[in-house]
Amino acid sequence: MSGHDRDVLIIGGGISGLANAWWLAREGLSVEVWEAEHRVGGKIKSSRQKGYLTERAAAMVMNFRPEVAGLVHETGLEDVKTSRMPIAEARRYLLHQGDLKALPMRLGAMLASPIWSARGKLRLLFEPFILTSGGKDESVSDFVCRRFGREVLEKAMEPFVSGTLAADPDQTSAEAALPRLTALEKRYGSITAGILINRILRRRTACVTDTFSFRGGISTLVNVLARAPGINTYTGHRVEELVKQDDGWFISAKTADGHRSINVQHVIVSTPAPAAAVLLKPLDKELAELLGGIDYAAVTVVHAGMDRGDIGHPLDGTGFLTPRREGHVLTGNLWMSSLFPDRAPEGKVLLTSYLGGARSPQIKDWDDDRMVDEMLRTLRPLLGLKGMPEMLRINRHKQALPLYHGAYQSRMQSIISRLKNLPGLHLEANYKGGVSVRDRLACGRSLAQQVVAERQRFCAGRNKNANERLTLSEMMGTVHVHETK
Ligand SMILES: Cc1cc2nc3c(=O)[nH]c(=O)nc-3n(C[C@H](O)[C@H](O)[C@H](O)COP(=O)(O)OP(=O)(O)OC[C@H]3O[C@@H](n4cnc5c(N)ncnc54)[C@H](O)[C@@H]3O)c2cc1C
Repeated sequence: MSGHDRDVLIIGGGISGLANAWWLAREGLSVEVWEAEHRVGGKIKSSRQKGYLTERAAAMVMNFRPEVAGLVHETGLEDVKTSRMPIAEARRYLLHQGDLKALPMRLGAMLASPIWSARGKLRLLFEPFILTSGGKDESVSDFVCRRFGREVLEKAMEPFVSGTLAADPDQTSAEAALPRLTALEKRYGSITAGILINRILRRRTACVTDTFSFRGGISTLVNVLARAPGINTYTGHRVEELVKQDDGWFISAKTADGHRSINVQHVIVSTPAPAAAVLLKPLDKELAELLGGIDYAAVTVVHAGMDRGDIGHPLDGTGFLTPRREGHVLTGNLWMSSLFPDRAPEGKVLLTSYLGGARSPQIKDWDDDRMVDEMLRTLRPLLGLKGMPEMLRINRHKQALPLYHGAYQSRMQSIISRLKNLPGLHLEANYKGGVSVRDRLACGRSLAQQVVAERQRFCAGRNKNANERLTLSEMMGTVHVHETK
C-alpha cells in the first residue's frame, strides 16, 4: 500500500458513499468510510412508530439497471427484498381538474384517456416527425414541449419532475434529469421510435424493471452496505481538513475522542455539495464556488396513519402526483401500505405526502400544524378522508434534493475539469449523475471502476519508472564494471 493507511477514504456515509465503498471493496481495495453523524444513511432513515414503518427520504428503488440487481443479489439483500404489492401494480393517479384520474402508462391507453385533449393526442403522435434541434443546457420544459407538446409537459412531465425531483422543469437541465430520453433523441432522432426499437432489441438483454424496498425499509440497504466485508465504517467522524500530498491525501476529522487522521491514495467526497464546498475551499476556491452554487430544494414529508374504514378511496395504486396548475403545495401522495407489505398495522393504511420543492419554497417556514392542515385539506376530498390520523410523523429537509437547474451541464463540466488538478480526489453524491437510489448505486460502480483504472495506471507508471531506473543503474553498473577493469 506504499505508506498509505488505506487505499481509499470516503467522506460521508449516505447511500452515495456506502454504495461506492461496496463496489471498491468488491474490487479488493481497502476502504474506510467516515460519517459525521452517529448513524449511517444520511437522508435515508426508516423508522417504526405505532406499528407504522415510515421513510424519511427514499421510500423505494425503481430499478432497470443490471448492476443494481447484481448488488442486491450479491449482498444477500434479495432475501429481504419486498416487491410492490399487486394492488399497487394497478395504477398511478394524477390530480386532474380537482379529481384523481388514472394516469395512462401506455400509448394506447393514453390515446383513449379523457385526460388528454384530441389536439394533445395528435401532437403526441407527431413526435417521430419533429426535427432534433435542442440547444445546450435545454430545459425539461423546452425539451418536452418541443418533442411532445405543452400538454405532455403540463399533465405528465411537470408533475413527475416536481414530485420526484422537487425541481422546476422550466429551470431543470433536460440532459441531466431525463438522460434516457435525451439520449434516445440523439441516437434515433425520435423518442417514440427509440423506445420501440429498444423494446425490440432489449428483449434478450433487458434487466426487468423492478420497484422494491426491503424488510425494515431502505435503511436495511444502507446498514447492509456499511457492514459489508472489506468496508470499515466509522460514525461520529466529521472531516475538517484535506491535505494534498505527493502520492495521496492526508485527511483529519473531529471525533468524540478528539481527532483522527489517515493517509490514503484516493479520497472520495460523498457529502452534499455545500459541505463539499467548505471542505474543498482551501484546495481550490473556484471549485468550491462551483459546488456552493448548486441550489437545493426544501421538502417536508408528512406521514399519516389511519383506519382503513376512514378512507373512501380503494387506494388501488401507488398514489398520485399533482400538476402545478392544480395549485397545491403538496406535490405527491404515496399510498405506502398499498405499495409494500408491513407498512401499517392490520386494518390501517399509511399515506405519505410530499410538500414544497422548488414549486413552493415558502413552505419551509411553515410550522407542523400548518403542514398537517394543508395535507388534510388536500387529501380529504380526493380520498374521501373521514376522521383524523392516529399516527402523524413529519420529516423536514431544508436541503432535500439538489436542483439540476440553470446551466447545470456547464457547471458540471467546469467541476470535472477543475478536479483534474487534484489527482486522487473524487466527488460522488446525488448532485452528480442522478438523485435516485438506483443512480447512486450505479454511479458508485462507475467511480469504483475509474479509481481502479487510475491505480493501475499509477502502478504501471511506477513500474515503468522503476524499470527505467533499473536500466540506468544497470548501465551505471556496466560503466562501473567497465571502470574497475
Ligand atoms: C423526501 C425525499 C424522498 C425521496 N424519495 C426517493 C425514492 O423514493 N426513491 C429514490 O430512489 N430516491 C429518493 N430520494 C433521493 C435519495 O434519498 C437521495 O438522493 C439520497 O439518499 C442522497 O444520498 P447521498 O449519499 O448522496 O447524500 P446524503 O444522504 O445527504 O449523505 C451525505 C452524508 O455526508 C455526511 N457528511 C456531511 N459532511 C460531512 C463531513 N464533513 N464529514 C463526514 N461526513 C459528512 C452527512 O452526515 C450525510 O450522512 C428521496 C429524497 C428525499 C429528500
